[in-house]
Amino acid sequence: MHVSRNENEPRPEVVYLDNNATTRVAPEVFEAMVPFLTEYYGNPSSAYGFGKLVEGHIMEARAKVAALVGATAKEIIFTSCGTESDNMAIWSALQTTGKMHIVTTQVEHSAIMNQTDQLERMGFGVTRLPVQADGTLLLSDVENAIRDDTAVVSIMWANNETGVLFPVEEIATIVKNKREQLTAANPKNKGPFFHTDAVQTPGKIDLTHVAKSDIDFLSMSGHKLHAPKGVGVLYVKKRTKVVPYVIGGGQERGKRGGTENVASIIGLGRAAELALERLSDEQTRVRAMRDRFEEALLQRLPHIYINGKREQRLPNTSNIAFDFVEAEAILMRLDRRGICASSGSACTTGSLDPSHVLSAMGMTPARARSCVRFSFSHYTSDADINYALEIIPPMIEELRAMSPLGPEHTDNFNYDVEASRAKEEKIMAQTMAAINE
Ligand code: PLP
Repeated sequence: MHVSRNENEPRPEVVYLDNNATTRVAPEVFEAMVPFLTEYYGNPSSAYGFGKLVEGHIMEARAKVAALVGATAKEIIFTSCGTESDNMAIWSALQTTGKMHIVTTQVEHSAIMNQTDQLERMGFGVTRLPVQADGTLLLSDVENAIRDDTAVVSIMWANNETGVLFPVEEIATIVKNKREQLTAANPKNKGPFFHTDAVQTPGKIDLTHVAKSDIDFLSMSGHKLHAPKGVGVLYVKKRTKVVPYVIGGGQERGKRGGTENVASIIGLGRAAELALERLSDEQTRVRAMRDRFEEALLQRLPHIYINGKREQRLPNTSNIAFDFVEAEAILMRLDRRGICASSGSACTTGSLDPSHVLSAMGMTPARARSCVRFSFSHYTSDADINYALEIIPPMIEELRAMSPLGPEHTDNFNYDVEASRAKEEKIMAQTMAAINE
């Protein structure tokens, strides 16, 4: 892959169906950013007018981002990415409550998953809630997992791999009720708080009621909503105590040290406006395109499954199991035809382990390794979908014909999840026994 382009190099022509990994910067966003990379280069913390001018534009961008979640500008902290926002929320809740327990799920993005793993190694307690076969969560599980020493419940709003949505507003209320109950018994009690990783949601679902909900912390990331990479947001509900995670200067009202990524913040402000304007396009045109894509594939190909609860998903995401085929083989062939899609999250690509999200949904490793995620956006056209639909079915047929796991293979005559899991587990046990001998 080229990282720099010279004059003679052709522009990459791709059909980009991987918008949950990242999105193209909207031309309007780019345009808004340019002055801040050229003439308006002052440091927003400087006391003179040239710096104050830039600070004023950051304030405008903050108000635009706040509008996306129905909040006030003071509730918005700019960070460097979604990962930092996630890490900050968890760390801050642990610090401000002094409690030692975290509730999360088995299907979080690595930003939360690896941080909570690390915290566990440091001695904190972590409860990771399971999900159902359709990727949904039982509210009763959440309720039962919260303890008196729980500092924070962190549950993503939309899963990046399957698009499955969790009822985070209801969960936030459960958490708030628990907090109030503990505080009534002991006025010194702080927490638990509720954080949601909402990185996949802006522009896809309506977030304007967030500030009226009981959500205490919410993370977003610029590059998932047509702003540049390297800028994130942490929404912190009014009157919720928060401590810095990146410690340094007094930027972001003392909540996040480090000179602001000015141009990207300005771009994110414009992207937030566009996300609000384009919400209906996402919920109608993009959703219809996604549904047409899935229906066409289901009609053309046997042994394929749409993962995640159909009605409770982001409108732009389609995660499909192509039984008897390795996703890596599909992706390589799609790449050769100029189609970008992915298996799992971009942050875990290259790992041979089946996706932790699909595994948590009870899928066998074999089926989990056959799953491809397609994710669409405002910039996806009908022509893109038509092209993908022309390429994918014959490609799957060809790969299945070569695969020892093809549907005609006697072993697979009655492809059965339980039997396949048992078989794989047996092979794994034999391998481990051989290694340990
Ligand atoms: N959370 C979710 C659900 C994501 O999908 C991602 C990115 O893929 C992140 C967090 C991390 O965001 P960033 O890449 O801005 O650090």
